Amino acid sequence: MNNDTNNYSLFWKETLIRIRSEISEQEYFTWFNRLEYESSKLNEIIFSVPSKFIQDQIRQRYIKKINDILNELTGTEIKISFIIKKQSVSQAKTELNSDSDITDKDSAHSNKKTVPKKKKEYASNLYSFDTFVIGDNSSFAFNACMAIAKNPGTTYNPCLIYGGVGLGKTHLIQSINNHVCENTQELNIKYVTAETFTNEFIKSVGDRKTQQFKNKYRKVDILLIDDIHFLQGKSSTQEEIFHTFNDLYDSNKQMVFTCDRPVSELKELAARLRSRFERGLNVDLQPPNFETRMAILRKKCEKQNYEMEDDVLTFISKNINTNVRDLEASLTKLIAYSKLLDKKITLEIAQEQLKDSYSLNREQSIAIETIQRVVADYFNLSYFELRGKKRTRAIAFPRQIAMYISRKMTDYSTTEIGYEFGGRDHTTVMHACQRIEGQFQTDSTMDNVIQKLMRSINEYRRN
Ligand code: ADP
Ligand code: MG
Repeated sequence: MNNDTNNYSLFWKETLIRIRSEISEQEYFTWFNRLEYESSKLNEIIFSVPSKFIQDQIRQRYIKKINDILNELTGTEIKISFIIKKQSVSQAKTELNSDSDITDKDSAHSNKKTVPKKKKEYASNLYSFDTFVIGDNSSFAFNACMAIAKNPGTTYNPCLIYGGVGLGKTHLIQSINNHVCENTQELNIKYVTAETFTNEFIKSVGDRKTQQFKNKYRKVDILLIDDIHFLQGKSSTQEEIFHTFNDLYDSNKQMVFTCDRPVSELKELAARLRSRFERGLNVDLQPPNFETRMAILRKKCEKQNYEMEDDVLTFISKNINTNVRDLEASLTKLIAYSKLLDKKITLEIAQEQLKDSYSLNREQSIAIETIQRVVADYFNLSYFELRGKKRTRAIAFPRQIAMYISRKMTDYSTTEIGYEFGGRDHTTVMHACQRIEGQFQTDSTMDNVIQKLMRSINEYRRN
């Protein structure tokens, strides 16, 4: 294949060996089996890939690693270029580019000559199994989806994945689609949201094209329908899905559905359809635990080539515990901030930047009792003394501080706070807050004390 003088193919072989030892077989197979050493020039290697999708993914995931290894082996900076290999090599060579600006409309299905030319639809270029972080909460769902992608229509049919918002349902179901598009091109796979399915169906009725609609969905080998809770109350679409289901099921075609709750909790869903969805495998996705949240954040940082301090990641993980999408959004916000202002993200910056998004979480989860315990401890008092009736200065002052912090850190009203402090009146709480604020003017150590206490309260709450 290569007849030029700058032959880097041996270096490339060594590079592959090293990469293979560092990543999983699955990952290696997915990306590097599709990358071919095409030719080279002085300080440049040209690879061929079957699609722009693969080119972009390889650039995103591995370009740094490839460059580092090649630089080490050759002692020079090697430029990496890609061509997308269409049917004929000569045609591909004219499309040589050194950066990812090839417009490549239909190359996703053009890599194997034996494959009949047909349009492959990627559900999304973003979601793949290897960007999904597996935790205890999701390993069952992940393995089921992976098994389905590898062997559709065999064991888990139909499969229903359910779980709350932002827990990875779409990620998993689209990963099935993309995996099949990449690996089993002869299968006809269709990903659709229940909403799109409904709209298309209604339109087909209006346009008198229901037969075409039926053909489209009943001739697939694999049907993936996302967010079936959307079907509630839509009886004619349910009817259509019911028949589609039966057709596909009878011919052993694979179906996968996602839903934001167990099917049994769906209202206004025809019983016969409910029983279809519940047939087969039902798996739930639970919110990730702290370690998994950290792993997800680390993976996202890695993907974006961004190094974030652990204390910042810990801060995010501790504040967001029910939704991976929100977890991701926090990280994206910080990375954007960092890049735009060219500043490294410290814990303080993270706290400041995310305080609005987290205030709800925080207010909900800090109990006044926590504040009382931490403040009492700091002043060497008991929690009961702080809540009690005694008004000696040694107790009254810490009590006022605790009231002030309760106002600052929680959403409780002065009346509610007063109630928590031995049934005191709300004016007492207001007076306490004014008094502490006044102290800030005269006592320069006051601010430090309050800050320190607030940090301890946050720590206490998290542990
Ligand atoms: P759902 O469809 O359940 O509402 P999504 O699949 O859209 O949730 O997930 C929301 C976001 O969180 C997506 O960007 C997705 O990639 C990400 N995400 C969810 N779970 C994981 C996971 N286990 N590992 C990596 N990313 C995840
Ligand atoms: Mg979704």
